[in-house]
Amino acid sequence: MRPENLFPLFKPVTSLKGVGARTAEFIEKVAGPHIIDLLWHLPVDIIDRRYTPKIAEALTDSIATITLRITKHYPPFNKRAPYKIVGMDDTGAMNLVFFRARPDYLNKVLPENEIRVVSGKVEKFGDTLQMTHPDHIGTQAEIDALSKVEPVYPLTAGLSLKVLGKAMTAALEIPPELPEWLDKPLIERERWPAWRDALLRAHAPEDARDLSPETPTRRRLAYDELLSNQLALALVRAHMKRTKGLALKGDGSLREKVLAALPFQLTNAQTFAIAEIDGDLGADHRMLRLLQGDVGSGKTVVALMAMLSAVEAGGQAVLMAPTEILARQHHATLSTMAEAAGLQPLLLTGRERGKNRESLLEKLNSGAARLAVGTHALFQDDVDYKDLRVAVIDEQHRFGVHQRLTLAAKGRAVDVLVMTATPIPRTLMLTAYGDMDVSRLMEKPAGRQPVQTVLISQERLDEVVAAVRRARETSARVYWVCPLIEDSETSDMAAAEARYDHLKSIFGDRVGLVHGRLKGAEKDAVMAAFKDGNIDVLVATTVIEVGVDVPEASVMVIEHAERFGLAQLHQLRGRIGRGADKSTCLLLHPRHIGETAKARLKTMRETDDGFVIAEKDLELRGAGELLGTRQSGLPEFRLADIAEHGDLLQMARDDAELILRNDPELESERGKGLRQLLYLFERDAAIKYLRSG
Ligand code: ADP
Ligand code: MG
Repeated sequence: MRPENLFPLFKPVTSLKGVGARTAEFIEKVAGPHIIDLLWHLPVDIIDRRYTPKIAEALTDSIATITLRITKHYPPFNKRAPYKIVGMDDTGAMNLVFFRARPDYLNKVLPENEIRVVSGKVEKFGDTLQMTHPDHIGTQAEIDALSKVEPVYPLTAGLSLKVLGKAMTAALEIPPELPEWLDKPLIERERWPAWRDALLRAHAPEDARDLSPETPTRRRLAYDELLSNQLALALVRAHMKRTKGLALKGDGSLREKVLAALPFQLTNAQTFAIAEIDGDLGADHRMLRLLQGDVGSGKTVVALMAMLSAVEAGGQAVLMAPTEILARQHHATLSTMAEAAGLQPLLLTGRERGKNRESLLEKLNSGAARLAVGTHALFQDDVDYKDLRVAVIDEQHRFGVHQRLTLAAKGRAVDVLVMTATPIPRTLMLTAYGDMDVSRLMEKPAGRQPVQTVLISQERLDEVVAAVRRARETSARVYWVCPLIEDSETSDMAAAEARYDHLKSIFGDRVGLVHGRLKGAEKDAVMAAFKDGNIDVLVATTVIEVGVDVPEASVMVIEHAERFGLAQLHQLRGRIGRGADKSTCLLLHPRHIGETAKARLKTMRETDDGFVIAEKDLELRGAGELLGTRQSGLPEFRLADIAEHGDLLQMARDDAELILRNDPELESERGKGLRQLLYLFERDAAIKYLRSG
């Protein structure tokens, strides 16, 4: 239950004076439905009203606050003409201009022969100075009572700064003093204000510098948010570790057979990762480990070793992939490898239906199937396992935080290994996974060819086609990737189809097309034709990103490369350079692209180190855009900016760990404050993991 003192913050914005349903709708769009959401909506700019020139000195285009005597009203001579009011001081005259104004209102606020103050933008009309619809009009005393520096908020069509500002002023009355949840020495060292002060100050900038993410005020608020994130993750993790796992120990018999049949030796990195996994499996807590390794670093065989331990101990193991294509690929790979141990993994995706599906479920339920590969179909409600011991989740670059939780709920002490090909910078990894155990495959299997990457303007398409022609003459295979257009699957497909027709007119029948709308079997057929060499140019939307392993593919063309995330480009490029031939990746872009876009593409040309690429991307674009926050499942922060506040994230992680070590149930005075913090940032789902929560 949310603590009572926070109730007012979670009331709808309509409960604020002057906020009706319509305004609330707009506020919800920019900030959110509750008062607290509005309060988290921080200013991005200021309007400075401290400039108070005499009329003759007022600079055109400046925001000025001017004191004048109203000399005369000139009502409009027709409906469209403006209402003009002349005012003067001892240096000159200026016009105040109003369109569609109510005369009675103007007579009231700007009476002739009175002194008034107006504030707004100074314009020049011919030789006369004028101000159109001043932002503020009042007596000297009224204007003095206003703040001289006004915060400017992100707005949306239909929501004016005036209306939002009024709502904000009302909202700023609401926050109560809350008990301090941060460590005193930390606050003193950082000179951070208390929570309520920080919030009020963040909304009352006195200077443009006050908007910087580096101010103590903003850092305090960012830290609160990051700490709530880290604390919630730490609670989930502590809970998972507390639910007893079963010590799992295989006898190595199956592993031995599989390893003996492999055409290669494991790398040191692979051997080391397997040892770390064995350590987790053998302990009586549940494994929660991330296996991180660049594309092609050889994660699959490591995962299989973990799965074989489960089977050796008499249990079952599954591998879940994010897409059907990838599930099929994994199934094919694992089938080949596991054959040496006399095992045949079962495949379960959304495509298996009816009787076939029933029989597969039967095998999982009876334990006849020891290994299974599939999509999330593996974890649907009606799927029951006899004795599931190890689950491997291949996330590629999509973080399935939610899927992981479903799985945890299903699990009876299932050990979980998450594989990710994304070289997620450590900072981002912390926000998504908290302090998960991590094994890294930094070393790649020997014999990989570096891919040469070339940036080329889209206008030189002819040269690109010529390069593809030359490649085909050496019987190389070519991926041709078309980008996502404005998030619309339809136009996305249309672009790919148009390119397909175009290339077919040049190269004839040996061109294929895959996109997301194809039926499973059609997709398989095209992929198989490409793999077997019956097609040598494959036009694709990004479905191939997680696609099939084709060592003969040595050329990749990516159109509008500037529209892709770097992580995504890196994944795509990882599809070539797998065979013995020298590979080339052509990144096409429009002739004129922005500086940032150019810098990003240059990064792709200069390095193929996934970690360097990800760090650079974070630096250039910020976290929100890095993986496309929405699809990625990464938490979105309202106050913290991961690129700016990376140091705070580290601190928050350490802090969360220390907090739970000293006060695992959050029962101390500070612990109670921290519970409020979790509620404040709506991370209260984690509170149920507290025994006394
Ligand atoms: P990842 O999933 O990390 O992208 P995979 O597990 O798919 O990588 O492995 C990529 C390729 O490298 C596969 O063809 C695999 O058989 C091969 N491979 C894996 N480990 C080794 C190794 N130690 N030596 C040589 N080749 C390897
Ligand atoms: Mg793989």
